[in-house]
Amino acid sequence: MLPIKILSCLALTACMSLYPTSAKKLTFPTYKVKKIMIDPGHGGRDTGCSGVKAVEKEITLAVAEALGGMMKDSLPDVEVVYTRTTDEFLRPGTRADIANCSEADLLISIHCNSLPRYPSVRGTETYVMRYANKRYLKVDEAHGDEDAELIEAHYTQSDDMVDVKNNFLTALDQRPNLYQSVMLAGLVEKYFRTATPLKSRGVRQENYSVLRDTNMPSILVEMGFLSNVEDEKYLHSDQGKQEIATAIFHAICDYKKSMETKRVIK
Ligand SMILES: [Zn+2]
Repeated sequence: MLPIKILSCLALTACMSLYPTSAKKLTFPTYKVKKIMIDPGHGGRDTGCSGVKAVEKEITLAVAEALGGMMKDSLPDVEVVYTRTTDEFLRPGTRADIANCSEADLLISIHCNSLPRYPSVRGTETYVMRYANKRYLKVDEAHGDEDAELIEAHYTQSDDMVDVKNNFLTALDQRPNLYQSVMLAGLVEKYFRTATPLKSRGVRQENYSVLRDTNMPSILVEMGFLSNVEDEKYLHSDQGKQEIATAIFHAICDYKKSMETKRVIK
């Protein structure tokens, strides 16, 4: 994954020394996005959250299948792999291991949100890695109480507890990928905002295992709140799942094109 790392802002100096150019021109290396891992959240006895009718593990699998199908049809140079393709329970930590062993160039983890005490809260959020208490992105502070409850709910429902001591090295390993992860997350939220009726709550950072323990650019997409009537109705519908998969697909296409285009700064 070296080419990814030397692209990051943190490795800019190393990049310049590896690719000597004239004083006026700096050429960035390109890399191919050849393998993409889709991670449908939850599965088996881990149902995730649920609404009146919709169950998270079913929605995540359906959107993953739709997204994978689009990539297979339209991106023949990309191999699509999954952490699960059936209603299967995966032990905590397994998803990151599967992604790392597959040597995927990108990981997209798919989830639904829930905040039963705040049923009016709706919209999408796309997460990138946060190491310990350090946030790199500005988050809308207006949602302070909701965010605190959201974080607590995530940790209790997914067994994804933060273990800073044991994950120190893997978190550092993921850190150079943050630039690419933020770029993709921003594109996903852009397409949610412009191509679906969902409200975008923006790009955020959190210390989830699939983001922290993976060694490729990775994002976790929260497609909406099953505790909100409008979001649940949309996520439960075939049209909603299709439109969400299409939005993520367009974001991936833009990201891939950007990564594979030679960039020259004059
Ligand atoms: Zn989830």
